[in-house]
Amino acid sequence: MCARPLSQASLSSVPELPLTGGCLCGGVRFEVTEPLVSASYCHCTRCQRRTGAAASAQARIAEGSLRITAGEELVRSYEPPDGFAKEFCSACGSALWSRDPEDPEVISVRLGAFDADPGIRPAYRQFVTYAAPWEALPDDGLPRYPERHPPSA
Ligand SMILES: [Zn+2]
Ligand SMILES: [Zn+2]
Repeated sequence: MCARPLSQASLSSVPELPLTGGCLCGGVRFEVTEPLVSASYCHCTRCQRRTGAAASAQARIAEGSLRITAGEELVRSYEPPDGFAKEFCSACGSALWSRDPEDPEVISVRLGAFDADPGIRPAYRQFVTYAAPWEALPDDGLPRYPERHPPSA
């Protein structure tokens, strides 16, 4: 672990656990107690709507590693008829994480909700077929998937 090439420099700082984060108004605070499992960008229309951005950057967390430390009563869930539930702060509207309705321990936290470097980088882009026409996909070398990346992350 001591001699990493410079290309790894962007990930060289191992974040201290727990990772902490919260919503814009500060009402909801949370911790993630284990290293993040994977991260990606989702360009689907649903993610554009709920984030107001061209894509949602998110990380799958290890099962059982999310703890809400403040404002649990503020967290509301939008449960679409298909797909993951979207949980957000009802006071400020910040997107927090999504949750698999069939397995509530399967959670993806929005990267923007973390206080500091979460120690992971998105590894691919999915649903690029639906990418916003007003923002070109960056030439970042990440694999692009027209639809969902298998297995979903
Ligand atoms: Zn809030
Ligand atoms: Zn999406």
